[in-house]
Amino acid sequence: MPKRCYYEVLGVPRTATEAEITKAYRALAKKYHPDQNPGDDSVLEKYHEVSEAYEVLKDPEKRAIYDRYGHEGLANGGMPPEGSIHIDLSEVFDDLIGGLFGGRRRGGRGGQRRGADIEEVLDLELLEAATGVSRTLTVRYEANCRTCGGTGARPGTQPVVCRRCRGSGTEYISGGFFALPQRCRACAGAGYTIAHPCTDCRGRGRVEARETVTVTIPPGVDTRTRLTLRGHGHEGTPGAPRGDLHLILRVREHKVFERDGHNLICQCPISFARAALGGTVELTTLTGEKVTLQVPRGTQTHTVLRIPGHGMPDLDNPRRRGDLLVVLVVETPTQLTPEQEQLFRRLAELEGNAPPAAPRKGILGKLKDLITGEHPPT
Ligand SMILES: [Zn+2]
Ligand SMILES: [Zn+2]
Repeated sequence: MPKRCYYEVLGVPRTATEAEITKAYRALAKKYHPDQNPGDDSVLEKYHEVSEAYEVLKDPEKRAIYDRYGHEGLANGGMPPEGSIHIDLSEVFDDLIGGLFGGRRRGGRGGQRRGADIEEVLDLELLEAATGVSRTLTVRYEANCRTCGGTGARPGTQPVVCRRCRGSGTEYISGGFFALPQRCRACAGAGYTIAHPCTDCRGRGRVEARETVTVTIPPGVDTRTRLTLRGHGHEGTPGAPRGDLHLILRVREHKVFERDGHNLICQCPISFARAALGGTVELTTLTGEKVTLQVPRGTQTHTVLRIPGHGMPDLDNPRRRGDLLVVLVVETPTQLTPEQEQLFRRLAELEGNAPPAAPRKGILGKLKDLITGEHPPT
């Protein structure tokens, strides 16, 4: 019977810390201790298995050898098992996974490879961009299969060096006088084949994992602001650091406030009378503060009033804020009460442009007037 994977025996992931390994060992040793199970010989075997796994995994040096070469490596005193070569999995990841998940080649052959980065778009409201916000999101990433440690081979078995290319991943196709190198067709360039694929990852060595991350978005961000969370990207080759997670922000349009750099712009309708006489207008800012605007006498439409410090914060220095620019829009009334109508007519008279008294006509008469344009519409 092949030896079980030590990590599997202790029920810990390959990334387990020494403390986690010790904790798992203590629990199992207690469970399988012969004193706890008198007369049961089957647990004795389990007890020895657990002790052996712990002996190796608690020792960083032995653990490293085991991680690299497996059970046979330990038997050979840290050398690769006879008749096999050490397979650089990083090459495999690049070929098998890198292409699919945007992985990039980092470092030279034979080194560990850092995981690829992930880019995600994060939508925000303008208010959230102004005040800053904390967001919790679930991110999917590529992880090494814990069951097989990323080899793709069922625990207790080993990938086998490809016979066609002898592990190089390249075969030479005869092209007349010369031979052309080509990616090995037997192993797809991996250099090895897996006779017994791991059932958890189906031989890929990689699985999809999810993680929940909480990100603090600082005040002042804008569309295309990029936030980087180190070490939250795809996993690299076993033991190598994970890639990074890049969040690319996208701030939604606001129905009242428009952003122009650090400034905010909004429109504020004011009446004819207010424009002419001046007065105050109350306005609610993006963050919900009430501000009172002084409208000067004789304000023309599209006059811009500046409210300092009520714009967007500066991302680099949140205490510095842009301004709120209020565009005053003078509204022409469309529906007049009889009293207002009277006043407007009086005003018109004073301007020396008095319309004739409203003629009392039916609908038809009014339409006629509109067509001939003889009378101003009433
Ligand atoms: Zn696996
Ligand atoms: Zn091959």
